[in-house]
Amino acid sequence: MHWDSTGGKTVAINLGDTEQEAAWRQEVRQFIEREAPAALRSGAEPEGALFGRLGAIKEWRDRVAARGWIAPSWPTKYGGAGMSVVDQFVMNEEFAEAGVPSNVGGFGVMMIGPTLIEHGKEEQKEQHLGSILRGETLWCQGYSEPGAGSDLASLQTRAVRDGDDYVLNGQKIWTTGAQFADWMYMLARTDPDAPKHRGITYLLVDMKSPGITVRPLTTLAGMQSFNEVFFEDVRVPARNRIGEENRGWYVGTTTLDFERSSIGSAIGVRKALEGLMRQAKSGRGEASFARSHGVRNEFADRWIECEVAKMLSYRVVSMQARGLIPNYEASICKMYSSELNQRIAGLSMHLYGMHGNVRNRSAVSYLQAVSATIAGGTTEVQKGIIATRGLGLPRG
Ligand SMILES: Cc1cc2nc3c(=O)[nH]c(=O)nc-3n(C[C@H](O)[C@H](O)[C@H](O)COP(=O)(O)OP(=O)(O)OC[C@H]3O[C@@H](n4cnc5c(N)ncnc54)[C@H](O)[C@@H]3O)c2cc1C
Repeated sequence: MHWDSTGGKTVAINLGDTEQEAAWRQEVRQFIEREAPAALRSGAEPEGALFGRLGAIKEWRDRVAARGWIAPSWPTKYGGAGMSVVDQFVMNEEFAEAGVPSNVGGFGVMMIGPTLIEHGKEEQKEQHLGSILRGETLWCQGYSEPGAGSDLASLQTRAVRDGDDYVLNGQKIWTTGAQFADWMYMLARTDPDAPKHRGITYLLVDMKSPGITVRPLTTLAGMQSFNEVFFEDVRVPARNRIGEENRGWYVGTTTLDFERSSIGSAIGVRKALEGLMRQAKSGRGEASFARSHGVRNEFADRWIECEVAKMLSYRVVSMQARGLIPNYEASICKMYSSELNQRIAGLSMHLYGMHGNVRNRSAVSYLQAVSATIAGGTTEVQKGIIATRGLGLPRG
């Protein structure tokens, strides 16, 4: 991608690859061609179907790690690939094109690793970064609580200092992967009398600690990816604190920046639409009625929206490449892609009609498409950001 600044305005002059980007894209493509397990190269599979292919995902993860690409954004000093923002974007585009999972390093590589690199002590980095890169430890994120989601700073789980430990009591919810996790990075309240953002501390909790109970929750789509996690007098060594006591909110928001920047792949959304179109064009079986004028119009609308989603993601990545921090621009991108994904899943159900309810793939993607509009900041919260920070409208 080339970008130019003219008269104070940034103007895109060419959306194609530079020579270096084209060569890098080719290298990634060849790697996928050579190394991606066949079971993963199906293209438009919904994320949920990945649960049935865990062996192949692990194989893919190991091959990406062996190539040195498991932590694209980490500095090479810590075992990462030290890739530029644009190179990471190109790699993710190619992974999405091939239908193979990106971000195979999970929460460890995506969120707690970069947070430790920025805020951790040397001994904390030594303890955790290597095992995250080798895939030996799985991490979960203990932020949300029954009374604290969008308004995260209202969280109530208490951590009370007792000698060299903190003693934790309280509850987290929607904790993805907690039933498999070895460690949790979490936020707890250490000063209930301070203003709410200032009484929070960031802790790393060993999930094998006595007093932790994990209870899986079943989602709308019938999957057990979330959990409730209960803490009853759980002792956490104070050396597991990241940053200063009562300053955890500022460490925690760094982690969230990493989460938000990784949500919403425009190509993944387009692949889902392409898969649907392939079936509709084939005119076979239950999809044959896709010849209708109304359905063709819907495909055209969704296709244009996919192009818009792509441009929005280019905008975010081009800002990051220039050292800017996308704010409402990232909200637009996240909201648009996740809602578009939902519209495409809705089109699938519309196309298949009653069959959609029994066709596992259609129904599961339809039910799952809701979650991306909530995770990482709900659509309504994103709209609030766009209205106030993007459009300058007053707060409600
Ligand atoms: C797929 C997925 C994975 C997740 N994984 C994790 C995880 O691993 N760890 C973790 O800690 N959490 C996780 N979460 C939880 C997620 O962070 C919260 O669901 C999210 O922040 C919303 O909070 P809430 O569910 O409490 O809803 P609430 O904040 O209670 O919102 C309820 C409704 O009110 C609306 N609303 C709230 N505030 C405003 C406002 N200011 N303006 C307008 N409308 C508003 C919301 O849009 C929503 O419609 C996950 C969620 C999903 C869907």
